Amino acid sequence: MGSSPTPGTRICFSNMSSKKKSKNKIERTLVIIKPDGLAKSLTGNILTALSETKLIIVGAKIMKVPKKLAEKHYENLKKEKPKIFKEAVKYLCGHYHNTNRVMALVYQGEKAVSKIRKICGATNPEEAKPTTIRGRYGRINSKTQVFENVIHASDSIQQAKKEIKLWFKPNELARTKK
Ligand code: ADP
Repeated sequence: MGSSPTPGTRICFSNMSSKKKSKNKIERTLVIIKPDGLAKSLTGNILTALSETKLIIVGAKIMKVPKKLAEKHYENLKKEKPKIFKEAVKYLCGHYHNTNRVMALVYQGEKAVSKIRKICGATNPEEAKPTTIRGRYGRINSKTQVFENVIHASDSIQQAKKEIKLWFKPNELARTKK
């Protein structure tokens, strides 16, 4: 009774559903467990922490990082912070650890980019919240001053699209709408 609209009242259902749709947009994001993460046997701990996001993994592989790939990955740093660029490339290629492997993953789901970034924490492990992955496991290398922060995660949807293309072939990613 009280819920029936008065004559002439317009209820715009289509607008409501389009708003809901844009809110629920599925994103993908790239995660790399860096060489220090593997050298310290942190893979399991990191994957457990990331599973708190309830996102799904649609791609995963262990790989050696060629210098060219690392340079392309960090190309944004090249102009802004050339010294850090050089060190970050060496770090990603495994020069500072006993392993040259990384684990690359693609996570998918609603707000995947921001959810993963939040759980990773700030770039500087000393500034990252202690409960985040970087806060828990990262350190500053006293020789190189590089932030050894054990994990990379894309920082925007646009960057994620670029990075996923760089690290994964389309047939290495599972196709699912979930
Ligand atoms: P993020 O990895 O949080 O997206 P950036 O893309 O700016 O941050 O930097 C890439 C990587 O380079 C960082 O994860 C870190 O390992 C290293 N790095 C960045 N800035 C610094 C810095 N000021 N001092 C030392 N290492 C840094």
